[in-house]
Amino acid sequence: MPAGGGNNPVSIVRATHWPEKLHHRFVRYYNVTLATIMHPPIGGMRAAHTLNHGLCGGKLLNRRDFLISTAISGCLLGGARWSQLASAEPLSEVETAEGLETTRLTDTVHLITGAGGNIAVIDVTEGGPIQIDSGLAATADKMLQAVTAATGRTPGMLLNTHWHGDHTGGNSALGGTHATIVAHAQTRVRLSTDQLVELLKSKTPASPAIALPAVTFSDTLTMRVGSEEIALTHVAPAHTDTDVFIYIKNANVLHAGDLLFNGMFPFIDYSSKGWIGGMVAAADSMLKFANSTTKIIPGHGPVASKTDLQTSRDMLHEVQSRITPFIKKGKTPAQVVAAKPLKDLDTHWGGGFMKTDVFTLCVAEGIKRHG
Ligand SMILES: [Zn+2]
Repeated sequence: MPAGGGNNPVSIVRATHWPEKLHHRFVRYYNVTLATIMHPPIGGMRAAHTLNHGLCGGKLLNRRDFLISTAISGCLLGGARWSQLASAEPLSEVETAEGLETTRLTDTVHLITGAGGNIAVIDVTEGGPIQIDSGLAATADKMLQAVTAATGRTPGMLLNTHWHGDHTGGNSALGGTHATIVAHAQTRVRLSTDQLVELLKSKTPASPAIALPAVTFSDTLTMRVGSEEIALTHVAPAHTDTDVFIYIKNANVLHAGDLLFNGMFPFIDYSSKGWIGGMVAAADSMLKFANSTTKIIPGHGPVASKTDLQTSRDMLHEVQSRITPFIKKGKTPAQVVAAKPLKDLDTHWGGGFMKTDVFTLCVAEGIKRHG
């Protein structure tokens, strides 16, 4: 998800139904500089929109931009924190202790949440743990502390699932500890150049050399490291055109990156050639690796089972089948949104920051561009 590479700060949205305390905890957690702009009633809800001028260009947001910025906030949040914020439940003291949450998934795999996209740490070699994704730039120091606390060492290698800043923002910090960064070749291309995510109006400047993948590949890459075999598989454009899912064979853990948002509508970055048909195909590819005991780490949301992945895949396929006919008839994405084709899915999938209308727009634009 796009959070801005390098030291780009984070944009957040505060709705009035959020408890004040929760909002301030969130602001403190992400350590961002903020200005608050009051918006007129939006969809029956008067919202105080808090935004970062660096990301949003310091301008007042119109209704469409507000919806878009609401979406980005969802993209920037990770794991349980995301769902808790979405439902405005109070955060526990553990989760607000200015730190990240580390969970041991298996004997050798740790999960770190709260740093943007979900992070995995594989502790199988004397050469230092292997980390999957590096989280937000704003939480890079805490991320390194969490990895060191879990394994006693700094990572020897970092694998990126895709280019978005909430998965690569800590690359500079890890590159600075001499970790070797591995990713799909297109991830290096996008990190090397300025990027624009149109739906979110988010610009990400090119990353410094230290943050770039030193090792790249095109289709698949298999690494045998210590007792473990780690398989990286690139898929055709789905969430972006840089996506890789990573299967840790002996641990039976699959890191899906943003090819899976567990339990919620996903963000699909059509500016990076993402589209929903690719998301369905990617889910089908991942399902071939998974069995009934596989632990699947999504880019955002709680750890998933194969059944969860199948459920998400089936939802995406259904959404594609509903929206494609509109585009084929020449309807604009705005006209698709107005028709509310996903209305009945809203309760189950649209409760997060990626609201149903924004998701509908995102999917329609992606299908239109894909052709
Ligand atoms: Zn992403």
